Parts: sequence; C-alpha cells; structure tokens
Amino acid sequence: MSTIVNDIEVIKANHTKIHDIDFNNLKFGHVFSDHMLECDYKDGKWHTPKVVPYAPISLDPSAKIFHYGQSIFEGMKAYKDEDDNILLFRPLDNFKRLNISAKRLAIPELPEAFFMDGLKTLLKVDSDWIPKKEGSSLYIRPFIFATGKGFHASPADEYKFIISTAPSGAYFAGKVKVLIEEKYSRSANGGVGFAKAGGNYAGQFYPTQLAVKKGYQQVIWTDDNTHEYIEEAGAMNIFVRINDTLITGPTSDRILDGITRKSIIELAKTEGIPVEVRKITVSEVVEAAKNGTLKEMFGAGTAAVISPIAGFGYKNEDFDLPELENTFASSLKKRITDIQTNKAEDPFGWRY
Ligand code: PMP
Repeated sequence: MSTIVNDIEVIKANHTKIHDIDFNNLKFGHVFSDHMLECDYKDGKWHTPKVVPYAPISLDPSAKIFHYGQSIFEGMKAYKDEDDNILLFRPLDNFKRLNISAKRLAIPELPEAFFMDGLKTLLKVDSDWIPKKEGSSLYIRPFIFATGKGFHASPADEYKFIISTAPSGAYFAGKVKVLIEEKYSRSANGGVGFAKAGGNYAGQFYPTQLAVKKGYQQVIWTDDNTHEYIEEAGAMNIFVRINDTLITGPTSDRILDGITRKSIIELAKTEGIPVEVRKITVSEVVEAAKNGTLKEMFGAGTAAVISPIAGFGYKNEDFDLPELENTFASSLKKRITDIQTNKAEDPFGWRY
C-alpha cells in the first residue's frame, strides 16, 4: 500500500526488521533500516523520488557504474533529542557537496527538493530506527551511480540516486596509530580528490592494507607530488596541534572540504583556540614530535566526528603522542556532539 508524505510516495515494507536489531550493540553501518529513498534520472531529468522497502537492486551488466566508476556518495547522521525531535547537522552542505561531486564525475546534478524532501520523508518513515543512546546515530548514506547501459567509455544517460540509512554505534574504538605515506597518493592536482567519488576509496584500500600489515590502523595521506605535506587521515581531514595552535591543511583539488573540519575551525575560533589553515609539512610534525611541542593529532569526519591519533610512523621510525588529560580533541568533540544532539545552544545555526 502506498501513501503520500511531503509530496513523496511511500511504499511501506510488509514486515519490519527492527525487532531483530540489538540497539545496545550497534556496529557502524552494518544493519539497514526498513526503507530507502529511490530516485531515477531518465529521459534527461531526475524524476520524483519514492520511499520504498530496503531491497537489493537489479542492474544490467553493462551499466556504466561497473565499468567506468561513475559513482558518488555522501555521509551524514540523524539524531533524536529527548523530545524525539529528529535532528540533522548542516544537511544542505552535504547536498551541495553531492552536486560538486556530481559535476566532477559528469553526473547530472540533483534538485535540492528531491534531496531534502526525500531525506525528511525517509527519516519520518523510519524514525524508530534513529537510536537515542549516547554516541549512536542513524548514519545516512546518499549515493548516485550510473545505471545507463553500454560499453562505450562516456557518461551514462541514466542514473539512480538512493538514500539508505543504518543505525550505528561509534565508528572507531580508541586511539589509532597511523603511517605517514611516502609512496602512494589518494588524490592529485586536477583529479577527483575533492569529490566523494567511490573510486577514491577503492584506491585507498591497498596502501591501507600495507599499513595495517605493518601494525598501523590508518594512512596519513601526503601530497602526490613531493609527499612532504600532510593532507588527510584515512577518510578524514587532519588536524595537528603544535603547542596550543591547531593546524589543518587548506582544501584543494586533493583535499575534501569536510563539514566536520570547517565546523571545528569555526568552533575553535570561538573557544579562543588559535587555528591556522595552511600547509603542514611532514618535517615540522616530526620535528615537533621530537622536541615535545606536538601535543595532538586527530582525524575529523562525520563518522567518528574526531578520531584521536596515538602515534605515527615515518621512515621506519615511530613517534608517540603525549597522553594529555584535557585535549582539544575531546573538548571539541563534546561541543560538536552537544550541538548535534540538542544538548547545547547552537549559535552557528548548524542544527537542522
Ligand atoms: N576526507 C575524506 C576523504 C572523507 O571521505 C571524509 C568523509 N566524508 C572527510 C574528509 C570528512 O568529511 P565530513 O566531515 O564532511 O564527513
């Protein structure tokens, strides 16, 4: 049976899976809610989305996603406050970034109403799937991929936009040890590093596997040209604290314009923390680690919010970061999650 919510057709699942889920032991992005949003691009335009039961999809083997990798995605989270209000964090920024990625991958841009109204309808329908436990959230994965057929290496003429959601616990447990990359790159000038293109992540897996074999959990990406500048931490932006100054690299062709990163920059400024947005050299980080002025390093991204780094490896040498009582990482993480979950005022207008 179908109903209409926010002008969007909703076809309800016959059965709910929610009773099979242990909301106290959620992994990250492992189980999926009952419904998904589905929207097709055909005959030169995006058609009105529908909420449908979460289910596998069937594609032609010649669909261009399989051959030429036209696929982009976003990652965001929904929370519920004490009064059961459904909350999002800067969702329009995710929408805008999806279209920035779309343009770079020659995918037709999506109308804002299809994204926002579609998302709101989906969250209303699956509202019971939004966890209320501290640290948990409903992870939201919007994505677009080429369904159009043909082996010709050119943009597809048909696409699918889906939003699926996954009730999730915290992303990383504990501090990570990272390896500063000296050989591989995740992005290059003129490339697609600033887009959330699926292939960017595929390209990271092998170098990350090599780092894991050496006993690290993540790779710190350096610039493709010289490997002298620190750029990102795994699939997160990176911050380095030297003395009391927080430093992060400028966004570029190679660095994703992370929503957590830009929120941290603004928040830190209002907390009186000096922030520098500038290139960070590997040598200054190594030097600071040696002379004791390197206080913290952390990754910043939607999934983990802030992921503290315990130490790093570089040129066969390991460096440990100090164990501090009060870190910028923990205070900034608390400020952001309090704003996200309506436990604190939001002077920035980020909560939605
Ligand atoms: N860099 C990369 C490569 C990422 O995939 C992500 C996750 N989207 C980020 C940074 C962090 O971005 P955000 O804070 O918007 O999640």
